[in-house]
Amino acid sequence: MRGFGGIAAIIGLSGFLAATAVAQTTGKNPSHADILRGFDIAALYADKSQGTTGYGSGATMTGIVAKWTRPVVYRVDGMTYDKARIAETIASLKRVAAIAGVSVSEGTEATANFILVFRNTDNLRSSNGGKAGCLTSWNSHQWTGAFNRAELHINLGTRSDLTQCINHEMLHAFGLRGHPHKLHSVMSYYTVRIVFDMTEADTVMLQTLYDERMKPGLSRLAAMVLADGIIEEKRRALNPAAPPKTDSTALFHDVIADLEVAAKAGSARALLSLAEAYRFGLSLPKDEARMQALIAQAAQLPDAAQRFDVAYALNNGYFVPQDAAHAASIYRRNADVGHLTSQNNLALLLRDGKGVPQDMTEALMWFTIAAGKYDLAERNRQSLLPKLTPDIQAAAQQRAAAWRPAAESVR
Ligand SMILES: [Zn+2]
Repeated sequence: MRGFGGIAAIIGLSGFLAATAVAQTTGKNPSHADILRGFDIAALYADKSQGTTGYGSGATMTGIVAKWTRPVVYRVDGMTYDKARIAETIASLKRVAAIAGVSVSEGTEATANFILVFRNTDNLRSSNGGKAGCLTSWNSHQWTGAFNRAELHINLGTRSDLTQCINHEMLHAFGLRGHPHKLHSVMSYYTVRIVFDMTEADTVMLQTLYDERMKPGLSRLAAMVLADGIIEEKRRALNPAAPPKTDSTALFHDVIADLEVAAKAGSARALLSLAEAYRFGLSLPKDEARMQALIAQAAQLPDAAQRFDVAYALNNGYFVPQDAAHAASIYRRNADVGHLTSQNNLALLLRDGKGVPQDMTEALMWFTIAAGKYDLAERNRQSLLPKLTPDIQAAAQQRAAAWRPAAESVR
């Protein structure tokens, strides 16, 4: 829906040896279960200890499929003295993009969406305080999972192994956002021996993420059920001698258990994910009534920001069936208590007659109320204004001036 971008910024960081080591699966012939668990942690769950998700509270349990859906256009920035390292980084980018099936070309400051920044600094710190090797930041849409931009910072002054951290960060920048430490993977660093290059498991995870059936924006549970089959295909293609696949039901139930914890803590996205599971029968029986009960529960969450997510999902048909009328009623409750983005989005529905009868006076009223504190509402107000009669403009202005927020507290 127009009117709300929903951009998430996410940070990944690597290039240091951790103090703890965990037992790792062997490099050759990784089992289907190990790769599926690794895919969950790397692409969907992310890594709680590193705080690498940008999706807000409960987000680590409710990650979505996020990946590049547009060509990658790279640009080299910063220090240029280490030509070999620059060439190595571009080669890593091209190799990862080729496995992902994403086209890649060099661009300019105006066109680039993938920035490779070479630095030599003491200011790039890892989470344990050491001088970090590399860092990735990137933006993706909170619901559609489409990547917009990534930056890789490579610290030429680090004592960490740069080959490891370039390959590691490159996978972060393509959507493997977490650290599957039990997998033999360049994404892991809690290991006895550092893995310098992409492994068989990494290739399978990346191929699975970029399989065309794995749509960006899919919920964690939906993605896991889908990944179960895709991983089996990819690993057989890569390694015909791979050991047989085992049943993944227990793993799906772990994901459901995580979602239930997040749902209890008041996460709208978790409740909608569970609703989606009952909608499509994702490792749970298809159950329309339970789906509706979960949507109703999410719509009544005490936090206006969480209710906004529910309205946004309903209006766009994310996770649950599209229902603009229900979205409008949630936006209206939020608007009444002063939630700015809800006021703007309610105004859009009123302006377009979507889910509610068209009402230009009320649309202009809500744009006007939000306009002082919210730029997008001001722009929407400006574009609507010339289309309205002076009578409507005056009535909306009068109602906006008289409006006061209802008592419910807004967080
Ligand atoms: Zn990392």
